Amino acid sequence: MKYFIAGPCAIESEAQINAVAAAVKTAGANILRGGAFKPRTSPYTFQGLGIKGLELLSRAAKTNGLLSASEILDAAELESFKDIDILQIGSRNMQNFTLLKALGRQPKPVILKRGFASTIKEWLFAAEYIISEGNEKVILCERGIRTFEDSTRFTLDISAVPVIKAQSELDIIVDPCHAAGSWEYVIPLSKAALAAGADGLMIEVHNDPDHALSDGAQSLTPKNFAKLSKELLHTGF
Ligand code: PEP
Ligand code: MN
Repeated sequence: MKYFIAGPCAIESEAQINAVAAAVKTAGANILRGGAFKPRTSPYTFQGLGIKGLELLSRAAKTNGLLSASEILDAAELESFKDIDILQIGSRNMQNFTLLKALGRQPKPVILKRGFASTIKEWLFAAEYIISEGNEKVILCERGIRTFEDSTRFTLDISAVPVIKAQSELDIIVDPCHAAGSWEYVIPLSKAALAAGADGLMIEVHNDPDHALSDGAQSLTPKNFAKLSKELLHTGF
């Protein structure tokens, strides 16, 4: 698998990010994710550790031989991301054209998450905003779309994988955690994503999901992440 991205929804402390980094590295991940600037639905919930979080993420990634990835909300923050390897544009910012263009004018790879109410066509045009400014290193990330179904947080659009493969040269990864909203569905959805042809996965992992400051319910424990990794290997991915 080209991109096996794992880590907590949000970086919460040095101990937390270090524990998760070591665990996901051992299990086979190659990129450490972690949010430092969190676009939470409510302004009254944990908003992330900011610049301090980025420093902790970068250090934990380097110590464990991983690349780092984190979400950027505002191009004015680019300088703070100088030690982060991969920049992420979140679902809520997929059509923030100022941000897209700014990340098109810098050299790092960009993970572009699909807007949860955006069509594949709109998503590909958003990618063009980055590419047309000169940065072709765009990695698309399907993370679930809003439908009438309420058994899961969003509906993972597996169809997006073959459709993107048919219409674009860009790599596509799948984030089953934000789609499912429940950790129990993450392993089967991961297998479905890879079977459909995805180039990688982004998985939320927390050392203590019950006490996570964000998205604990959809986060795998290090033990379950190791189980996912082992099952994927056995399935031939
Ligand atoms: C995230 O990856 O932590 C995140 C906020 O995801 P999304 O933008 O897909 O909701
Ligand atoms: Mn999250």
